[in-house]
Amino acid sequence: MLAVAPIKAFTDNYIWALINNRAKTCAVVDPGDAYPVIEFLEQEQLTLSAILITHHHRDHTGGLLKLRNLFNLKVYGPANHSIKGIDVALVDGESVNLDSIDAKFKVMEVPGHTLDHIAFFGEGSLFCGDTLFAGGCGRLFEGTPQQMLNSLQKLAQLPENTKVYCAHEYTLANLTFAKTVEPDNQALIDRYESVEDLRHKDQITLPSTIQLEITTNPFMRTNKPTIKQAAETFLSTPLSTESDIFAAIRKWKDNF
Ligand code: ZN
Ligand code: FE
Repeated sequence: MLAVAPIKAFTDNYIWALINNRAKTCAVVDPGDAYPVIEFLEQEQLTLSAILITHHHRDHTGGLLKLRNLFNLKVYGPANHSIKGIDVALVDGESVNLDSIDAKFKVMEVPGHTLDHIAFFGEGSLFCGDTLFAGGCGRLFEGTPQQMLNSLQKLAQLPENTKVYCAHEYTLANLTFAKTVEPDNQALIDRYESVEDLRHKDQITLPSTIQLEITTNPFMRTNKPTIKQAAETFLSTPLSTESDIFAAIRKWKDNF
């Protein structure tokens, strides 16, 4: 059984450690900083055997080269030449077999936040970087609203009980916004309360699940009448396509 543990980095990043406790091996997702990873490995007496990268941003790749020099490992990531140190460049639909931790993942291209963004799905878990957040989604730095919408729709097709491991602790702020968009969504109100409670105790709010995102995340609910109406009120104009609704909610959140 694969164990997953968060390694905190910077102010709100999570570097996910995928641990095989029997073999004492570990893979990490998006090591933006090498030092917290090295500290974690020493503490837990683990060997690092693989690195997975979701996209090119520094807070996800900054520790890659140092870790690659220190350990005998392979780095898997997007087919983007601007990222130094990728050993295996991945495209949509490919499989990643990590024998060292006894885990298998499928690669999903999920452009929107960046154009090179990929997600890893396997072992009942999704590692989605800055694409899908708990209660929100990544900003559109490179992609279009339509691209991000397509990416989130792809993720919504995954089994409902899939555990969602995103790369930042943004949940409370995201749900604060979500409540403004959809104040009468009871599932959202309940989730907000439990997340607020966790953050008061300085506890992590992840992983989420696909089901929880479909019921509470406005960016996963752009096909719902309540979201359409809220988006139209925000822009004071009727909106006909789901892409336009998505764009309106994203714009609203950017200025929230
Ligand atoms: Zn990013
Ligand atoms: Fe990030």
